[in-house]
This record gives sequence, C-alpha cells and structure tokens, in this order.
Amino acid sequence: VYSELKNRVAVVTGGSKGIGTAISERFGKEGMKVVINYHSDEKGAQEAADAVKKNGGDAVIVQADIGSEEGAQKLIDAAVNNFGGLDIWVNNAGMENQVATKDMSLEDWNRVINVNLTGVFLGTKMALRYFTDHNKKGNIINMSSVHEQIPWPTFAHYAASKGGVKLFTETVAMEYAKQNIRVNAIGPGAINTPINAKKFADPEQKATTTSMIPMGRIGDPEEVAAAAAWLASDESSYVTGITMFVDGGMTLYPSFQGGRG
Ligand code: NAD
Repeated sequence: VYSELKNRVAVVTGGSKGIGTAISERFGKEGMKVVINYHSDEKGAQEAADAVKKNGGDAVIVQADIGSEEGAQKLIDAAVNNFGGLDIWVNNAGMENQVATKDMSLEDWNRVINVNLTGVFLGTKMALRYFTDHNKKGNIINMSSVHEQIPWPTFAHYAASKGGVKLFTETVAMEYAKQNIRVNAIGPGAINTPINAKKFADPEQKATTTSMIPMGRIGDPEEVAAAAAWLASDESSYVTGITMFVDGGMTLYPSFQGGRG
C-alpha cells in the first residue's frame, strides 16, 4: 500500500471485468476514490464498485463508450462531481477479434482502433485538460500489451492499436513532462481475464500459450494491478514514457530458451 494514494481520485475505463476490475479493486485497497467506467456490463461494474468500497475506498460506476468524446467527457464530469477532482486516469478499455487481414472488414478494423487507440487518445485528452487547467501533477496510465512489440498475425488491428499506444504514450509523456504530468503504459502478457476465457479453457491452447512464457504460467490481473498502483504512486515519481511489461518474460524471445538458435 502506498499511503500517499489515500483519497486520490482515479478514472478506470473498462472496469467491469478483467484487468480494469483488478485495478479498481487495488485502488480501493489504496483508499482511493474510483470512477469505474463500463460499456455494457453494469452488473460487473457494480460488483467492482462494491469490492472497492469493501476494500476501504469509494467508487461510482458510469456507463460510457470510451471511443466517443461524449463518453470521455462523462467520465471526467463524474470524477469532478462525485469526488471533487482527478489525479489518475487509467485508459484500460480494450478489445480484440481474430481475423485474417485479407478478410478483415473495415468495421472490424474501426471497432478495435476506436476503443484501443482513439479511446486512449480521448481519455488522455480529457485528463490532460483537467490537469493543465488545475495546475495539477497528473498521472496517466495506458493499457498497452506485449503486442506493442511482438507482431501478432490475424490480430493486425490489435497490434497496430497497441503499437500506436506505445508511441502515443511516449509522445504525450514528452509533451507534458515539464508540467509534471507523467504518462506511462503497462504491457501485459497473457493474463487470466474474460478476454482469454475461451482460449485458456482449452488445455491445448493454454499449454501453447504457457510454453511461450519463460516463467511458465499465465499471469493474474492482480499482478497487472500492482504495476498500475506503483505507476500511480509517488514511488515512480521519476518515471515517464515507459511501457512496463508485466509478462513473465514473454517479450524476451522465449524461442531462444535453453540456448536454442
Ligand atoms: P476484458 O475483455 O476482460 O475487459 C475489457 C474491458 O474493456 C471490458 O470491461 C469492456 O467492457 C471494456 N470496453 C470495451 N469496449 C469499450 C468501450 N467502447 N468503452 C468502454 N469500455 C469498453 O479484457 P482485459 O483482459 O481485462 O483487458 C484490459 C486491457 O488489457 C485491454 O486494453 C487489453 O487489450 C489489455 N491486455 C490484456 C491482456 C490479457 O492477456 N488479458 C494482454 C495484453 C493486454
């Protein structure tokens, strides 16, 4: 627990399940006040909010499409109206679908880019406006992926969105460094969340994924939330523009394990 985080206000996009819920719950343990955004799963968001409160924090849930400007506006308004301000904005919402590039519809492409990349832009813009208007040391955390670095055939839109998040994060970090606004990304590897539920329910697919992870296991959302808490805290006060990989070593070229190659 980072004591300075107590009473700080955070927005977490896509907080109704998976990594977003784990981050919200961890922020609850830190005694923070959390605006939990959801798109369609109100029940999941309410459960996350209940957990935040049980953990010692406070929370409200807000329905919004983070791929729209009105959606992002709703979230900053909720932070200000319910909790009196904003300290940390986590752009976590994301989605994927598997399709060969030659068969990818423009709709598929636009949907993934809209949530994963445009959503990060819109959330960041709202947070930056608040921080600069109020002369506040702000903190923005973007959920990237190992696929900002590792190509992923049949997920070209997803990989393009995360590659975009990487350079967006670095650029905005540099643009606002002098104002003491820190902007970082987290790059999860394979994490046990609903996005992967079908894949990891199949023992063969799970074994394939596990074989690509030097640490030999799938990660838990709480392990990603721990990175978010550190990046949100003052312990990371000199860190900006990085992607912190939380991937059990997946980005370390695991095919070379044991001296192969
Ligand atoms: P998930 O599917 O469990 O949760 C994603 C959340 O985003 C959901 O709550 C969903 O409702 C929300 N969302 C989708 N579209 C939205 C929209 N338009 N507006 C608001 N919210 C929207 O997935 P997860 O595994 O928890 O993923 C969270 C983030 O982590 C994503 O950005 C994902 O790309 C990234 N990530 C996950 C993994 C993994 O292995 N699980 C690995 C690398 C990166």
